Amino acid sequence: MRVRFWGTRGSIGVALTSADVRDRLAQALVHASGRTFASYEEAHAYASSELDFSLTHTFGGHTPCVELELPGEEYYVCDMGSGARPFGVHVLAKQARRPATVNVFMSHVHWDHIMGFPFFGPAYVPGTKIHIHGCHDVVEQAFRLQQSPPCFPVGWEQLGATIDFIRLEPDKPYKVNGMTVTPHLQLHSGDSYGYRFEHEGKSVIYSTDSEHKLENRAEAETFAAFFRGADLVIFDAMYALAEAISIKADWGHSSNIVGVELCQMARAKHLMLFHHEPANNDATLEGLLKEARRFEELTRGDQPLKVSAAYDGLEVDL
Ligand SMILES: [Zn+2]
Ligand SMILES: [Zn+2]
Repeated sequence: MRVRFWGTRGSIGVALTSADVRDRLAQALVHASGRTFASYEEAHAYASSELDFSLTHTFGGHTPCVELELPGEEYYVCDMGSGARPFGVHVLAKQARRPATVNVFMSHVHWDHIMGFPFFGPAYVPGTKIHIHGCHDVVEQAFRLQQSPPCFPVGWEQLGATIDFIRLEPDKPYKVNGMTVTPHLQLHSGDSYGYRFEHEGKSVIYSTDSEHKLENRAEAETFAAFFRGADLVIFDAMYALAEAISIKADWGHSSNIVGVELCQMARAKHLMLFHHEPANNDATLEGLLKEARRFEELTRGDQPLKVSAAYDGLEVDL
């Protein structure tokens, strides 16, 4: 299974500013001074292998959209944030005019998780099938509402795809083709649901927009059981721990450190920090990643936990 991140920022999309790009370019030139490059390819290889991550990458960008690529013809995707637009471009290119079948799993319907759907190209292609799964009773209403006047010029009835909504119940495993999917209720304004995906012995947790109160032992153990032994846990790490337990308590999100603690309890293998706070720049996000890695080292038991931070375009093979 391959996990592909199309959108990793929380709440609202962000882009690098002109000043950010200029700054990176200047730093890269200083780094490369004295070097010469015979071709674009040579310069590209240098940038890929020798420049710092902070000069060649940016975290976030689009709002949540994460694809699970499995063998077979169908597509599987969590949430339809603005990352659904480039995901749609990818689907159209790969299909080469054949209509696609896309299985969508919705954590909840806050705007950052549905805003990409009106820009999801395959939705306009006749013959396309889109199955939208979720545990809320308002999923269909939310999708239709955002494509209603006066907010959007193209109405729901103008979509070419056949779109159906499938209501799931929490903690019940479902089979979707060869994959098992189990939703789980999370603490968030209006509720959100995490998903555990299992396929051929590999497991991925998609757990965004979820606040944890670890002092409640029973709650922590429920999540440790949900994350149990997962190969990858995509985790709402919007805040630093200090923010999450003070000013931003009850805001419905979690932190990098709580992610490490829950994954350690669950003996999960890889924690992916996700749903980055839009106010945080790349340096701050890199700092949160380093802090989480340091905390993991200090508290490590007999099993190490890999810790990463998601960025648009990242692919993880399991
Ligand atoms: Zn969100
Ligand atoms: Zn939310």
